[in-house]
Amino acid sequence: MSGYTPMMQQYLAIKETARDAILFFRLGDFYEMFFDDAITASRELEITLTGREGGADKKIPMCGVPYHSAEGYIARLIEKGFKVAICEQVEDPSAAKGVVRREIIRVVTPGTVMETKSLAEKANNFIVSVSEAGGACGVAACDLTTGELYVTSFSAASESLTDEINVYHPSEIVGDAAVLERLRAAAAGWNRPVLFTDREPMADEPLRRQFGQLELDALQPARRRAVSLLTGYLDETQKRSLAHVRRISEYEPNQFMILDPFTRRNLELTETVRDRSKKGSLLWLLDRTRTSMGARLLRRWIDKPLLSKAMIDERLEAVEKLYLNFILRDELRRELNEIYDLERLVGRVAYGSANGRDLNALKTSLQHVPALIALCGESESATLRKLTAGTDDCADLAATIETVIVDEPPVSVREGGLIRAGYDAYLDELREASVNGKKWLAELERKEREATGIKSLKIGYNKVFGYYLEVSKANIGSLPEGRYERKQTLTNAERYVTPELKEKETLILEAEEKMVDLEYAKFVELREHLTAHLHRLQKLAGTIAALDVFQSFAAVGAEQRYVKPNVTERFDFAVAEGRHPVVEAVMEGTSFIANETKLERDAASMLLITGPNMAGKSTYMRQVALIGIMAQIGCFVPAKQAEVPLIDRIFTRIGAADDLIGGQSTFMVEMKDIQTMTEKATARSLVIIDELGRGTSTGEGMAIAQAVIEFVHHEVGCKALVSTHFHELAHLEDTLPHLANACMAVQETGDNVTFLRKLVPGAAGSSYGIYCAQLAGLPGSIIERAYALLDLHEAREETAAAAEAPYAGSPAGGRGVDAARPAPGAAHGHGAASASASAAAAFAAESAAS
Ligand code: ADP
Repeated sequence: MSGYTPMMQQYLAIKETARDAILFFRLGDFYEMFFDDAITASRELEITLTGREGGADKKIPMCGVPYHSAEGYIARLIEKGFKVAICEQVEDPSAAKGVVRREIIRVVTPGTVMETKSLAEKANNFIVSVSEAGGACGVAACDLTTGELYVTSFSAASESLTDEINVYHPSEIVGDAAVLERLRAAAAGWNRPVLFTDREPMADEPLRRQFGQLELDALQPARRRAVSLLTGYLDETQKRSLAHVRRISEYEPNQFMILDPFTRRNLELTETVRDRSKKGSLLWLLDRTRTSMGARLLRRWIDKPLLSKAMIDERLEAVEKLYLNFILRDELRRELNEIYDLERLVGRVAYGSANGRDLNALKTSLQHVPALIALCGESESATLRKLTAGTDDCADLAATIETVIVDEPPVSVREGGLIRAGYDAYLDELREASVNGKKWLAELERKEREATGIKSLKIGYNKVFGYYLEVSKANIGSLPEGRYERKQTLTNAERYVTPELKEKETLILEAEEKMVDLEYAKFVELREHLTAHLHRLQKLAGTIAALDVFQSFAAVGAEQRYVKPNVTERFDFAVAEGRHPVVEAVMEGTSFIANETKLERDAASMLLITGPNMAGKSTYMRQVALIGIMAQIGCFVPAKQAEVPLIDRIFTRIGAADDLIGGQSTFMVEMKDIQTMTEKATARSLVIIDELGRGTSTGEGMAIAQAVIEFVHHEVGCKALVSTHFHELAHLEDTLPHLANACMAVQETGDNVTFLRKLVPGAAGSSYGIYCAQLAGLPGSIIERAYALLDLHEAREETAAAAEAPYAGSPAGGRGVDAARPAPGAAHGHGAASASASAAAAFAAESAAS
């Protein structure tokens, strides 16, 4: 190190404290990068790599970006998953003795960006921490832009941990090394890059200052540790007070429906499978929110369907009233239109990055709040009245901003022009001095023009020479000798000063400097005042976001002719004329064919759906799941009538083009999903399997399919929809009392097959495949031969069926209903009949319990 110049030594010392980040080292008007950072940055940003003498033998690799355009470069590096440490000059270079003092003022990371450029308006940007303590894994998630902080925990061995983290779509995860290690593998399958950082928890004292002793003491050890790890990381990278991150929202994982990442993706809840865009997803369909806060909350609601009937009913009540009262809905929407992103404005205030325009946006937003609250207060909805009763509309804060900030402040807060006249007496005085000075200059210009007869003589200003009198070359001859003192010569003009002008200049500039400083001080004072009231603004923002989602649900519901679901704690799922919300919405011309759903404890809780490709099987199965989810987030559903039971978990196994994760075969992926299902499903779950048993040989596929169906039927006893192309499995209906066959009807007229998209009882005819081949024009000889082979195959099947082994039950017992089940042994040897009796008993116990 000793061979380097003093500045390079300083660089290296600072770099040592930010080894995992790219160091942006401020040198005058540039941020420079050196050594490996320079090589990486020049490659990633496509900027020129140069070299610099630094005292070492070789030139030091270097590249740089101008400070005023740094934000864009930083954003690009963050997007690529890097961290950027920003190192500024922290003393005035002219006052510095030796090398200017420099410090890292902040480390920007993917999970902690505050710059609008790098953020999606309608999605949160979460950073997640994971911890291990007391036999549990804690998870904390924070959106630094809004100040939200959630925390929960799982038993240490739980696989649900990764599912939960995935819900937050984190861009960055910090925490205990051991847990991180487990997550790394899982994250490989996620759809965005995630940055991992090992962390130690933060010291107790600053943590207590952030959240308060009581709040921390209430947390279990793993949760407390997760909060500590996360806060420590934020503290270290941001290097400033996080006044907006004060409230810890704790929840239990079982408060919400569990959806694994595969199911989320498959049901296209927030993005489509095909191109991962929001368009075409359930979120896209339901999003009629008017504010970004509402849009983000909607996404969170879709990510976390509720399991409490009371809470769901509360939401549904609000949606219903807004659904029926379109005048109220329109009025609400009109007010919401005027409200900016309060949550992120609050974040910027706390962060110290809010400018005058942000505060005015806050003010205008707040000015619309009273009307919004009045509308809810007068509404017929108990939920809306409860939500807004006693709401603090923060009118005092709006009024304060109004008295301090001018109507149209500049972007910069350091150049004056943002404090209203009349707010501060001294500022007004300085302003007057400056105005008078300007008047004096105008008067001087007039007088001098008159005295010299030069009409084009003018007074100008620049940073180097201050105020001057300018006379064009053509007119210099008319200037009396010695009238002014020459200061600067240009190609076509001369610039002059007079002692009197210089004297006034000092007064004017002094006043202006004082003015700018004072304005900035007053602005910061206001920002600090607001910081003390952030919790009030955050609470209000939460209320507004919920209102926005309610009106969004009502608007879509009314437009798409949805109905209010009757959410129950019973088992049965009954939908009359149900539709797939998204397929229906994007269909042009043709109209969607509605279908009934009946999954009942005392009749069929499982459907085995057959039918040719393209008949509409998977659309139907997804539709059932979506109706369940929509009901549990408090939204109306696409149906004529719907009885929706609370579903604790949805499993889907739906073949998709992108099955090949990490080189595993489709079949292996399917089997792993099914393994998870067999382990986790309860009687209150919904299982959906599309094309069960494909991907292996017919014989094996069919055998596994039957075994899985039997397992779900006997051991899990939950609602299930299974589609298969093994028409031969239709016979299961005879032996499994809770399973019914269904198929998508197809109409044949002459040479035409028409898909009716109608779900009807019974199994599909098995010869559609050959029929389709015939329609496609395959030679007659192939078709005939195929029919003959099919007959042969079916005859063999019948013989085999006669010798079929009955289902023997599982030694493990059922799900959460053990008490009501006969001892496992009892089912043995009694065949399907007694096994199904035990499933029936399980259902009875389930419904009695609820
Ligand atoms: P399968 O799973 O049987 O192969 P899909 O569910 O993929 O069939 O449906 C095939 C196509 O049929 C879908 O792309 C959709 O556009 C259309 N479709 C499905 N169900 C319906 C319906 N109920 N009404 C109208 N069109 C439908």
